[in-house]
Amino acid sequence: MSGDSHGSIGQQMHDLAARLYPMHRAITGQGVRDTFEEIAKHIPLNVHEVPTGTPVLDWHVPHEWNLHDAFIADANTGTRLIDVADSTLHIVNYSRAVNQQMSWQELLPHLWTVPEFEDRIPYRTGYFRDTWGFCLSEIQKKSLADPSRSYHVVIDSQSSDGALSYAECQIQGQSERVVLLYTHCCHPSLANDNLSGIVVATFLAQALQSRLLKHTYRIVMAPATIGAITWLAQNESSLATIDYGLVLSLLGDAGNLTYKRSRRGSSPIDRIAERIVHDTGGSVRNFSPNGYDERQFCSPGFDLPMGCLMRTPPGEFNEYHTSADNLEFVKPKYLQHSLSSLLQIIDEIEDNIIPVNLRPQGEPRLGEYGLYKAFGEDGHTAELQSAVMWLLNQADGITDLDSIATRSGLSVARIRQALGVLCQHGLMAESTDSVPAHVLLAARHRSVNQ
Ligand code: ZN
Repeated sequence: MSGDSHGSIGQQMHDLAARLYPMHRAITGQGVRDTFEEIAKHIPLNVHEVPTGTPVLDWHVPHEWNLHDAFIADANTGTRLIDVADSTLHIVNYSRAVNQQMSWQELLPHLWTVPEFEDRIPYRTGYFRDTWGFCLSEIQKKSLADPSRSYHVVIDSQSSDGALSYAECQIQGQSERVVLLYTHCCHPSLANDNLSGIVVATFLAQALQSRLLKHTYRIVMAPATIGAITWLAQNESSLATIDYGLVLSLLGDAGNLTYKRSRRGSSPIDRIAERIVHDTGGSVRNFSPNGYDERQFCSPGFDLPMGCLMRTPPGEFNEYHTSADNLEFVKPKYLQHSLSSLLQIIDEIEDNIIPVNLRPQGEPRLGEYGLYKAFGEDGHTAELQSAVMWLLNQADGITDLDSIATRSGLSVARIRQALGVLCQHGLMAESTDSVPAHVLLAARHRSVNQ
């Protein structure tokens, strides 16, 4: 399928980004709800509203913020000089309400520009602070500046008790074991960061809906930081079911793919995503505690097997967090390439097995389960017995079958045979078997010990 023909998947993805682009998103408010309403035309979406003040981990859900109008006008003529109707980026998100006349000297500390690129408007927020401000280009600022002029500044914003909205699309597979895909949805008119992540997640969900899946897929769209923290707080009891996870962001620029490893660095998702990203000519980097919401998912109290899939990383392209991150910067062919690469990762996940020892504390009494008899069924008694011992020791619900084979020095086929025997005797579960969260937790002893 060509990347630029009108009906291509890439073009459809770009069209969705274009419809979402003008909506004024912030960490809460109507812009996020409008975004979910548009996405719900493509995939089934459960929208959750978490009330202001709800405690979530070390935070509280903030006031809901909505903006009705904002401008800087000439106080004498009433002419609007800067108007949020021209760009959602003109206002510092979460600016408090203002309606007053002021001098240039009074206005100046509230104006933000990108000095190195004089035609670009920066993106700024005032989350969790009592502040207000306008963002504009250097060119606009110069044309505005007049020490003898009086300015009428209006920010018609409302900060009040409301809710934080996040959305989830769940696609049920054969088992309850989960692949978590997460994307932030709180930036206003910025295309790569992160409408690209939102449209890739949406089209991925659409593609998965028609498949017979082994894993259950949870695709979450939430505001950055506070949204991920809220989702984690509300889903704590089911986190143990997550076998694989990816944060999706910055997926529409011309750069090659980048995979950022999980905190663990050696999870099955790391091995799979690394190989596929390498195959596309992309690069891999180690985990660091900055970037996107992998920071929350990979905090030590959760330590989820979750990496980040992107193209050029945040802050490493000069359009980042400016008005130049627009619909021209993001191209249909790159969106489509990101989606198809992600689908390859999903294909590998579907074929991969992460076994779980259902009796992980001490060795089970193998004789009681009739296992010694099973060892005698072919001519490789000692090797099969060794494979059983390796599996019982390594099947911690974190390590996959390939890694166990490599570590044991035994063939994947022999480890698979041992897995079959252990599953038959009720001592082990495969990725396709539903394992209750508390059993997974018990197997993943590192989590239990926290
Ligand atoms: Zn950002």
